Amino acid sequence: MTHYVLPDLAYDYSALEPHISARIMELHHSKHHKAYVDGANKTLEQLAEARQKGALDGAGVLERTLAFHISGHVMHSIFWQNLSPKGGGKPIGDLAAAIDRDFGNFDSFKLQLNKTAATIQGSGWAALYLEPLTQRLIIGSVHDHQQSVFQGSLPLMVIDAWEHAFYLQYVNEKAKFFDALWNIWDWADIAQRHAAAKSATLSLKGAVG
Ligand code: MN
Repeated sequence: MTHYVLPDLAYDYSALEPHISARIMELHHSKHHKAYVDGANKTLEQLAEARQKGALDGAGVLERTLAFHISGHVMHSIFWQNLSPKGGGKPIGDLAAAIDRDFGNFDSFKLQLNKTAATIQGSGWAALYLEPLTQRLIIGSVHDHQQSVFQGSLPLMVIDAWEHAFYLQYVNEKAKFFDALWNIWDWADIAQRHAAAKSATLSLKGAVG
C-alpha cells in the first residue's frame, strides 16, 4: 500500500542561512513536517480499521483530520522544493509573463503575496495557485493547511506563515521572514510547477466564458 514519506531536502539544513536558520530548518522538517506525514498515514489506518469494523460514525471527523495532515504534507513538500540556496531574483519566460498578466507586474505580485502571508489570522499559508478553469494565477490565504482553498486549483508556490516557520529567528517580526524568502525562491522550480499545472483539466464544459 502506498504511504506518505518525509522527503529528503535537496540542501543541508544550514544551506538557507542567513534567511532561514539551520535550527529552524531542522525542527521544521524533521519534527513538524514529519508529524503531518505520520498523521496522514495513521489516519488512513484508522479509517481502514473503522471500515473493517463497520464503525463509520466517526468517519467525518477522521476525514477532516486526514485533510489537515495530507495538506500539511503537501504544502511543506512544495515549500522545501520552492526554496534553494541558489535562488532569488525574478522569474523569466512564461511564468513571468503570466505574473505580469494576472497581477499587473512583479512588484504587485510580491506585495500581494507578502501581505497575504502577513495577514493570516492564526496559522496558515499564503499560496500562489494555477486556477485551471481560466488558467489564471491566483493567490490564496489558507487557514491551517487546508481551509479556504480553491477547489481544483494547484499550488505552485507557498509561504509557511505558521509561527514554527520563523519564531525562533524572527520572533514577532514575521514580515521580515516573508521578505527574506525572496532571496531564496527557486523560480525554476516554480516555473516547472506552473508548466505542469497548465495541463490539468477539470473537464467542466461551459463553466467559463
Ligand atoms: Mn510549517
